[in-house]
Amino acid sequence: MTTALAPSSRPVAAAAGAATNAAIDARRVAAMPRGVGIGFAVYAQRALNAELWDVEGRRYIDFGAGIAVLNTGHRHPRVVEAIRAQLDRFTHTAYQVVPYESAVSLAERLNKRTPGSHAKKTAFFTTGAEAVENAIKIARAATRRPGVIALGGGFHGRTFMGMALTGKVAPYKTGFGPFPGSVFHVPAPVALHGVSVEDALRALVQLFKADIDPESVAAIILEPVQGEGGFYAMPPEFMRALRRICDSYGILLIADEIQTGFGRTGRWFAMDHHDVLPDLMTMAKSLAGGTPLSAVCGRADIMDAPAPGGLGGTYAANPLAIAAAHAVLDVIEEEKLCERAQALGDRLKGRLNALRATVPQISDVRGLGAMVAVEFAGADARPTPSSPNRSRPARAMRACCC
Ligand code: PMP
Repeated sequence: MTTALAPSSRPVAAAAGAATNAAIDARRVAAMPRGVGIGFAVYAQRALNAELWDVEGRRYIDFGAGIAVLNTGHRHPRVVEAIRAQLDRFTHTAYQVVPYESAVSLAERLNKRTPGSHAKKTAFFTTGAEAVENAIKIARAATRRPGVIALGGGFHGRTFMGMALTGKVAPYKTGFGPFPGSVFHVPAPVALHGVSVEDALRALVQLFKADIDPESVAAIILEPVQGEGGFYAMPPEFMRALRRICDSYGILLIADEIQTGFGRTGRWFAMDHHDVLPDLMTMAKSLAGGTPLSAVCGRADIMDAPAPGGLGGTYAANPLAIAAAHAVLDVIEEEKLCERAQALGDRLKGRLNALRATVPQISDVRGLGAMVAVEFAGADARPTPSSPNRSRPARAMRACCC
């Protein structure tokens, strides 16, 4: 997860009668439920590239980045121009009623860009959780099996299947059950906290013995780098073993790249760091530069399993978001943002590692590309196994922002 917004300039005195952060926040508390937690009572007035200004005129460096949505920055001119041009044409037809070419060409681009040169198809949705829901629908339709396996510490969204798959109870599941059935969890391999790849695979074998026949499992879904879970990259040998297990039992492997996609890890997708391919991938967030768009991309035969009408949604493939996504892909390509993410991540890791000499509480510096985490140990200078990296502010950020 990203860190707090950092004020980078002194506030400009608010004009007489102008809204203040405190005044708006008091109205929020009265008008909106507390379940929609906020990271900071800093009300945005405008934003550009990596910076954001609040209603009191304070300028911030926006480390929040809209929760991994702004890999191309706030209001990249190419993205703004693409949305503006689309606004002048049409804003909504409902793709399933009257389709448009821009969605078809975006699907073609994603089919080419995602890992693997096999035949693929892409379906568009609106939010990340919706992409996850639909990936599971597609996997179940293709395999005619019920079971789904996810990892402890994983995050997959706030809808019912998203919550069921999410491997963390508080705050995401508390009070919201019961959840859809046939969903199981195994621990994620995180050596720092005492779970080796062998431990995680042993838990999977145990699950197959105790809870579900592998021949009844439709899919294993995981984030190649856990986002909400603490930026833990899945080891290549774990991905290879999962691929082998999936192949031997006819289980589909789903990579949730909602948080890791579009350059953040120094490659287009985190799965580009691995030598095995997923069957399906979910995408959202930085796909469309701040407009709501998500996608499921996968093997063409699997994607075609649901019957016509089984997939979709009123706003799925919204034309403004599709236009923005085309511009995002152009910008990532032309401005070499994968290379930039790698360079920035390397620089950050170098600086954080240098700090270890003077800050012994740093127990780990890790990450792929610009998706970098620093983890602090407990008072005994050991990693805290039950609740890694959970300072109060970090907990507050996660509770609001995943
Ligand atoms: N999967 C992952 C890996 C995520 O990081 C998120 C959002 N943080 C989601 C799914 C859910 O996406 P959304 O909030 O757009 O529904």
